[in-house]
Amino acid sequence: MLDIFDMHTHSIASGHSYNTIYEMARGAADLGLKALGITEHAPALPGTCHALYFSNLYVVPRELSGVKLYLGAELNILDYEGRVDLGPAELKRLDIGIASMHPPCLTPGSCKELTHAYICAMENPYVQVIGHPDDGRYLADYEEMARKAKEYHVLLELNNSSLKPGGYRQNSWENARAMLKHCERFGTKVIMNSDAHVVSDVGDHRFAWKLVQETGFPEELVVNGSLEELDGYLQR
Ligand SMILES: [Zn+2]
Ligand SMILES: [Zn+2]
Repeated sequence: MLDIFDMHTHSIASGHSYNTIYEMARGAADLGLKALGITEHAPALPGTCHALYFSNLYVVPRELSGVKLYLGAELNILDYEGRVDLGPAELKRLDIGIASMHPPCLTPGSCKELTHAYICAMENPYVQVIGHPDDGRYLADYEEMARKAKEYHVLLELNNSSLKPGGYRQNSWENARAMLKHCERFGTKVIMNSDAHVVSDVGDHRFAWKLVQETGFPEELVVNGSLEELDGYLQR
């Protein structure tokens, strides 16, 4: 199938990533990608940019090296009520909002608490993607996640970094497989993302794609072939 964009990457502004947005865009162009999402870690993660970075994003051109740029944030889910670490003033300026759970920002709770947190985050109109829901350190109920993601028109991510050999998240293959099973049942769409922190990883969806093929997951439920379809999710 067509795979024309990567919507979850980090530039040097995220503090533990290594390339500028210009280098990232050039890398995406070299791969023939039509669009690139740069989603810096939101302020609760140590070492990333300040909230002001996000409210000033309007100064950055939305096309570089012939690649359409979507500038957004990877928001941290802060509690079991699904609160995130940017307010409406910044959120409304983002092209894309991914909500994820990260160890320094959220203490792992019970499956019930974490599922509730993810679902509350999905209710936030500025959240359009749930990032790396495969992370076994934050194990959620994939049946409920897939059902609600469909209802709220939110994409669940197949995170290539999680699936890489030596990936530090836990049981990602097994969890992503379970998630896909329920997504297929409910017709919930997924997005393949690299979560690149260095330009050489931009556009790398090899392991996500391997999982799609291995499970026989319907390709029409993977949005990476159509920018129009992606945009339909971003205009919630
Ligand atoms: Zn993340
Ligand atoms: Zn990320």
